[in-house]
Amino acid sequence: MNVCDSDMLGSVFSAYGASKVNNLSEADVVILNTCTVRAQAEQKAFSYLGRVKEFKQKNPCIKIVVIGCMAERLGTNIKKRFNSVDLIIGAKDIDNAALRIMNLFRTNYSSKKVNCEIKSEIVRYVTIMRGCDNYCSYCAVPFVRGREISINCETIVNECSSMVKNGAREIILLGQNVNSYQYKDVNFASLIKKAATIENLERIRFMTNHPKDLSDDLIKIMATEPKVCSHIHLPMQSASDKILKVMNRKYSYEHYLGLINKLRTAVPGVSVTTDIIVGFPGETDEDFEDTLKAVKTIRFGGLYVFRYSPRPDTKATEMTDDVPFEEKKRRHAIILKESNKISIEIVLEMLGSTQQVLAEEIKNGIIKARTKNGRKVFTEGRKEYIGKHINVNIKEAKVNSLFGDIV
Ligand code: SAM
Ligand code: SF4
Repeated sequence: MNVCDSDMLGSVFSAYGASKVNNLSEADVVILNTCTVRAQAEQKAFSYLGRVKEFKQKNPCIKIVVIGCMAERLGTNIKKRFNSVDLIIGAKDIDNAALRIMNLFRTNYSSKKVNCEIKSEIVRYVTIMRGCDNYCSYCAVPFVRGREISINCETIVNECSSMVKNGAREIILLGQNVNSYQYKDVNFASLIKKAATIENLERIRFMTNHPKDLSDDLIKIMATEPKVCSHIHLPMQSASDKILKVMNRKYSYEHYLGLINKLRTAVPGVSVTTDIIVGFPGETDEDFEDTLKAVKTIRFGGLYVFRYSPRPDTKATEMTDDVPFEEKKRRHAIILKESNKISIEIVLEMLGSTQQVLAEEIKNGIIKARTKNGRKVFTEGRKEYIGKHINVNIKEAKVNSLFGDIV
């Protein structure tokens, strides 16, 4: 979501003649887009603010702006700690961010709008809904991003179309729980059907999915609409029903496993990736073993594993954070090791095969592309291939990437 919000701001600024620079010394304004989902993300943001504060002491003209979830949660408290910060814009006010930032420069930017080229990239993100109503007991999102709102489906389709006109070939539809998208009588499956009619759009991906809301209609669209990628990110969080209940996830492990089986039957070759939290309050060795066993059984295409960290305002802060940090680290490492082992087995099976991939970008003669089920593939090639499907024979495989030759 943050990448998408940063992209959106970048497009607005570029339309007014501003451009992104690669180092502080060239910048007029530093915009720090923050996340508050885990404590670690906030610590990183603070340490970055420490570095730009020092820079500002020597370069007082530079403006510092903090936007996003951490800005929403902490508001002016950020200024108390860093008086170098000029402006704070919370996640709920993100739509007005560009104007408020431009106002910092006391120039009438509205009269300066130029017909600057809009970002031209092969893969673009489109936010289809904001906020979340699920209140998983560990999660800060409903507090900092607000109630769930689905965006007008015509607006979404128009945005996708204009991105495709500007060169995009793959659109990633984004929301905290895309499965509960509902705008008037348009649900998520019908939104995908509408987007799939866009000429020259080659691929549609989406994230994130909530297991309690993943519908048969969506599985059917994945199975029948050729533009929809065979990849789904379906956060499991835990495989212990006791922990799922206190997390307020509203599904059981059996239900989750049932979805995986349905997906795999309907969409051959589908890659399922997931999120897991270890060390949630009350997670015993047995609960953790259930999750580890599920990782081995399901054989995810990839996963993110997080050590639980209490977030202010959430229900879980009323529970005792009783899994010691060292134990969280141990469980985290075990899941990661198992997941890497499985990923290697999966990619090794792909050695020698020919994969159809969409070429996304090229740097120093090396094309970065992706299979329909989301695996990164690198190959030597020419820039004319970018935005096109190419066939690559796989010669080398690593956990997160494949290498091969165009055939
Ligand atoms: N909406 C998505 C869903 O329902 O799965 C996830 C959104 S959240 C921004 C991304 C991931 O961060 C979650 O799936 C969860 O695994 C992790 N996460 C959220 N809060 C956490 C916390 N307090 N401690 C550790 N991990 C957390
Ligand atoms: Fe957070 Fe749960 Fe909403 Fe995902 S579904 S954003 S984890 S509250």
